[in-house]
Amino acid sequence: MGNPGQPVSMDFPLTTPRILDRARVYADVGVVCRRPDRSLVRTTYGEVVRRARALASALRNLGVRPQDRVATLCWNHREHLECYLGVPASGAVLHTLNLRLHPEELAYIVEHAQDRVLVVDDVLLPLFETFRERVRVERIFVVPTSGKPVPPGYDSYEELVGSGDPDFAPPELSETSPAMMCYTSGTTGRPKGVAYSHRALVLAALATLVADSFAISCADTVLATVPMFHVAGWVLPFSAPLAGARLVLPGPHLDPRSLAELLSAERATFSAGVPTVWLGVVQLLEREPGRWPLAPGLRVALGGSAPPEALLRAMRRLGIRPVHGWGMTEVLVGIQSHLRPWMEGWPEERQYEALTKQGTPVPLLEARVVSEVGEVAPDGRTPGELQVRGPWVAAGYHRGEAPDSWTPDGWFRTGDVAVVDPAGQIRIVDRTKDLIKSGGEWISSVDLENALMAHPKVQEAAVVAVPHPQWMERPLAVVVPRPGQTPTPEELRAFLGQRFPKWWLPDAFVFATEIPKTSTGKLAKAVLRERYRTWSWR
Ligand code: AMP
Repeated sequence: MGNPGQPVSMDFPLTTPRILDRARVYADVGVVCRRPDRSLVRTTYGEVVRRARALASALRNLGVRPQDRVATLCWNHREHLECYLGVPASGAVLHTLNLRLHPEELAYIVEHAQDRVLVVDDVLLPLFETFRERVRVERIFVVPTSGKPVPPGYDSYEELVGSGDPDFAPPELSETSPAMMCYTSGTTGRPKGVAYSHRALVLAALATLVADSFAISCADTVLATVPMFHVAGWVLPFSAPLAGARLVLPGPHLDPRSLAELLSAERATFSAGVPTVWLGVVQLLEREPGRWPLAPGLRVALGGSAPPEALLRAMRRLGIRPVHGWGMTEVLVGIQSHLRPWMEGWPEERQYEALTKQGTPVPLLEARVVSEVGEVAPDGRTPGELQVRGPWVAAGYHRGEAPDSWTPDGWFRTGDVAVVDPAGQIRIVDRTKDLIKSGGEWISSVDLENALMAHPKVQEAAVVAVPHPQWMERPLAVVVPRPGQTPTPEELRAFLGQRFPKWWLPDAFVFATEIPKTSTGKLAKAVLRERYRTWSWR
């Protein structure tokens, strides 16, 4: 061993620019992206890395300081990838904005994060303009994804990159400094900011490369359908260049036909996304057999909501190997369920029982399930709250909000309710957060209830998540009218439509004379969820 006080291994900070350096090995590996006009643009990691370095240097020349926030409002494409690699390499923090949020929420998030610079797709300017007046971003750079000139009043992203040094060497950064941030949405109360350190991102990306996780390697072509504004695109924008996997970015075209075309034409071997997106793709592949031949051994990671068993079965019929994953904005890469080698000989029923569970944590992540009396027995029956800890799990929210989301002994409280079986496999059975997850996006039931109760004909209202075959969950509203009033579903929808995006609006309104309450007088949501669990959406 070395002298006392001398480190035995090198102090080598795990920062995301290491991924830029690594991608040099794969300079000729391709990156493909689809433009709004459906054309495909082909480039290489060599070019992406040069432009990312140029972006980093241009941001510094612009006066962007370490840890300043640079936001993106972008689809999945090569320029967004350049931001993933280039913004943190400048020392700034990449803040990806979820383009599905309501403008009011976006304005709040941009202000709360104190974003100084924004990179926005030209095709998303109409969205940005709905909240531009409410934010104090200093510079706005437009990515010309549609090939049209940048409109007056905006700066050009291409000129920004063109002004930078493509050989820029990133400064030495601390591995614990923030590299990126994403906001949780739809939570009770305001959205909360989650920052990721360089180290967290590097280790989470590495965790997706291990053979028992997503096993991403240079033999893969990765079709990234997870929006890059969600949970760091489940870290694929870092994993793919780290592993040297070809990367295919679908731009704004996330419809089943476009994805099936890309999967087939680009011979994708790995993809990932929410069950709703894959449900559409799988239904199309089954409807038109042989039309889009898939690469043998295609793996698809499904996460964000629990995938229905029928989807897992259909995938396997098509020769696709599903990987079921559980993760969160705060947790990046979490719990996964695969068909392990020892399960190959199991009867089908048992295999699917295993695959529909969320599974076991990826290496270096730890999970426990805790009830009021301590860690629950691994009996597959006793529920408790799922808590996790690990090197890439958030240690706090931006500006120290909601500190009680962490336990005094340092675990993150996920708000998911789970059981553990004797083999250590975790299954999510409920959630304590009063939210609805529709097609991978959150809807706040509390916000809908509060809005409904402001309607002059409504006395009381509760909104609950009801299972849905396509969207996994949809909101159903239970409404108690004021005496003598008979509100109609149409007028209530129109009323809510003034404040919320269309996809938030309850698909069904049930009129009742009262809403069940808990002993403390709160709306008994669990009772309502159970009552409408088998609701027929037809
Ligand atoms: P988000 O932070 O928006 O990614 O949402 C994370 C939440 O989505 C988790 O806390 C779960 O409630 C839910 N979720 C994610 N993946 C799964 C899954 N595989 N099964 C069930 N729920 C999931």
